[in-house]
Amino acid sequence: MQSKRMYINGEWTESISKETLNVLNPANSERLYDVPRGNSKDIDRAVEAARTAFESEQWQTFKPHERGRILFEVAQAIRNEKETIAEMETLDCGKPITQARADVEAAARYFEYYAGVADKILGETIPVEPSILDYTVREPVGVTAHIIPWNYPIQISSRSTAAAIATGNAVVMKPAEDTPATALKLADIFEKTALPKGIFNVVTGYGYEAGTALSDHPGVDHITFTGSVETGTAVMTMAAKHITPVTLELGGKSPNIVFRDCNQEEALNGVIRSIIQNAGQTCSAGSRLLIESTFHDEFVGKVCERMHDLVIGPGMDDPDIGPILSEKQLNRIEEFMKLAKEEKVDILVGGGRELVQGAEGGYYFQPTVLDHVDSESKLAQEEIFGPVLAVFTFETEAEALALANQTEYGLVTGIWTTDIGRALRLAGGIRAGQIFINNYGAGGGIQMPFGGYKKSGFGREKGLEALKNYTQVKNVAINTGS
Ligand code: NAD
Repeated sequence: MQSKRMYINGEWTESISKETLNVLNPANSERLYDVPRGNSKDIDRAVEAARTAFESEQWQTFKPHERGRILFEVAQAIRNEKETIAEMETLDCGKPITQARADVEAAARYFEYYAGVADKILGETIPVEPSILDYTVREPVGVTAHIIPWNYPIQISSRSTAAAIATGNAVVMKPAEDTPATALKLADIFEKTALPKGIFNVVTGYGYEAGTALSDHPGVDHITFTGSVETGTAVMTMAAKHITPVTLELGGKSPNIVFRDCNQEEALNGVIRSIIQNAGQTCSAGSRLLIESTFHDEFVGKVCERMHDLVIGPGMDDPDIGPILSEKQLNRIEEFMKLAKEEKVDILVGGGRELVQGAEGGYYFQPTVLDHVDSESKLAQEEIFGPVLAVFTFETEAEALALANQTEYGLVTGIWTTDIGRALRLAGGIRAGQIFINNYGAGGGIQMPFGGYKKSGFGREKGLEALKNYTQVKNVAINTGS
């Protein structure tokens, strides 16, 4: 079994404790490799390295376009090794290889996008009075921490670190303990560029050790956390002690709202894709279907047929649905199914584990459709994080809007109708960070600001909006004496 090392101050290193943790393949539960079990001492080392590198004359005088050039090189290197990186991702987190390839391409796009932005971080001049010349500059915040979840490791690692480096920060990243391979691969790629040592650091380890140490570190100037609401709350609480700003990208219970007058084939494809992508383990999964009552039987019938026919298997075989990440996650989904039975919900398709021949140790779950779910039920309110679609029926536009807004989350919403006036009225009333009309991007779009309302978090990643996370504004007022 291979052992990987983590990357601190331009060096590949073990943890100070020399302890390691194993990473398993969700397709068959076999061990893939081990990584260092970083703890608070390793986080101290990484934050110190990042601070020294950030304050160095070399980095402070680094030309913005040279930062951009490095990020372009990273994008190219990712593309050159696309297949290898996609395989790493599929082995770590289980997703079908086609989806992993798309994630790798998205990662390259993030580096490319923010590479172009590096020398376009602009300030303003502000009219005050004739004798005052007032201008603003956007400065990097300093040492930025990036805590990454296991469901889209390469994409999420890339989107925030690319923006942070483009704006001149020094990065300490903590990948999820289950899926650290591609974060380490990024370090390998950065090592071959002219990026100064210490600007990009990766500490592997558990959330309750390395993650806590990073969130609670007084030497960190900004934290980007992507993960669950529960952990996000803990991270924000720790950060509050040091007045460290945070960007939180948390979960969702996103609806697709389907009206009878929609393009039916497009809506069907959108609804299915948005719940089966990465086996439903997507923050922006379309996990609720809100369907106009007169269209319920016809549309839900078709959804069930499609869900029933999906192919489940190891991600490397490129099925429609790969395994769930772990036994723990699979058990969590089963708990929700127990609740569905207790609440006498109609389980129209699926509802249980799937045994895949030749991969008996893997964590597979059947694509599932739940109908007649009470909108107050946990099944309607909480993230199940599996290929489980809950169906709700509405009579009027007002009811659809109320149902859409009836959770504590507000990440994404899909609206499917040919009545554009209705779509725009709903888009205005829905409390979510991204609205898709007659499409469903599942958080997609490198250029589109992405983030949550309500408990889905705050701050925006992606697009130019993300630059606000990694810069702070300084105002300079000059008395010109005129
Ligand atoms: P998680 O909260 O368990 O873990 C996320 C990361 O936080 C991991 O790196 C973990 O090691 C670390 N962590 C765990 N405990 C910590 C602690 N006490 N202090 C600091 N760090 C800690 O989430 P997960 O299970 O990996 O990911 C699934 C969740 O992430 C879902 O809720 C999903 O919706 C959300 N998510 C959101 C987005 C988004 O952009 N909005 C994207 C992907 C996933």
